[in-house]
Amino acid sequence: MTTPTAGARPDEVRRHNRTALLRRLHVDGPSTRASLAAELGLNRSTIKALVDGLAESGVVAERVPAQRSGAGRPSLLVLPRPYAAVVMAIDVRVEQVAMAFVGLGGDLLGRDSWNLHHRSRDPGEVITHVADSAKLLADELDVVPVGVGVSVPGVVRRSDGLVHEAPNLHWTDVALGERLSAVLKVPVQVGNDAELGALAEHVRGAARGSSDMVYISADVGVGGGVISSGMPLRGTGGYVGELGHMVVRPGGRRCYCGCQGCWETEVGEAALCRALALPEDAPRGAVVAELRSLAASPEAVAHRLGEFTQWLAMGLVTVVNMLGPEQVVLGDLFTALPDQVVDRVRAIVQKQSLVSRAVGGTRIVRSPLGRDAKLIGAAELAFEPVLGTV
Ligand SMILES: [Zn+2]
Repeated sequence: MTTPTAGARPDEVRRHNRTALLRRLHVDGPSTRASLAAELGLNRSTIKALVDGLAESGVVAERVPAQRSGAGRPSLLVLPRPYAAVVMAIDVRVEQVAMAFVGLGGDLLGRDSWNLHHRSRDPGEVITHVADSAKLLADELDVVPVGVGVSVPGVVRRSDGLVHEAPNLHWTDVALGERLSAVLKVPVQVGNDAELGALAEHVRGAARGSSDMVYISADVGVGGGVISSGMPLRGTGGYVGELGHMVVRPGGRRCYCGCQGCWETEVGEAALCRALALPEDAPRGAVVAELRSLAASPEAVAHRLGEFTQWLAMGLVTVVNMLGPEQVVLGDLFTALPDQVVDRVRAIVQKQSLVSRAVGGTRIVRSPLGRDAKLIGAAELAFEPVLGTV
């Protein structure tokens, strides 16, 4: 939590504290006034004034806890009211668009999704479908979203939501943020999908409370999102995290980015399909089903996925050496990898990475949020500016 600078005006301090309190309730859920005071380092009268103000404007409510502890009057729990602020989250994937309305506190209030094929992948078509679907969901839930967050598998300029390049969608220089906000009439934030996956895991998933983590996502492409010292790592212009394009095999397969032997060409969906002897364009369901059936036989896993496991570990050794994460969260298609593969990758990284050895091993886990990680991250992206204004 940041503190306002010395000499800040009382109304600035109050707004800062109000945002911190709301963020705490939004992320960690219901809490008593006493716990809130202790966690935020504020005195009880300040907390009382803030909670009373938020309750009066309908943003929070107070309830008797379901389970009473000890004798005497139970402490009331302060909880966020989901409908006090609702955002729209959109996850544009190569094969599908998923969208959800998410309330304050992170409750998913309603959702919709549709498949994309060659023609419907056109940005104009996607924007029109999003607008139509948003209207239906808003009417059904009787809400007006106050912000929109969008996840895109591509290189995104965060300042205005320009999608510079999303190769697997065949998008180049699409002003997605501006075009969507013109249609939806609310502020729109656009982020790279792996970056938003990292945000989701950090706020609501495997990496809660972890200040240094890397999220690696395997969809058609492979991308990374990094939280460093508790903050998202941002490159120049917001362009960062193209971990799938580390060259791990000089002279290897040609990658669409122009290089040869990128990590993505060895551990992306196509590489996994090759290892499983499936066609490279096999439907996702078939890939996941094959991985599940393989998991029952350790010999088959070692035989079919041995080389894939080595490439996955090899890239991760470099990632861990470069970024020093406390944990690595494997997302999307990687969540379907058998335990045996993840265990082996963890062992190789611990043995071969200097940084991992120094810290006694890096936690490497599969994402508990699974396919929803990027949608949840998009919602959190939309909530960032909203929490200060509710
Ligand atoms: Zn590449």
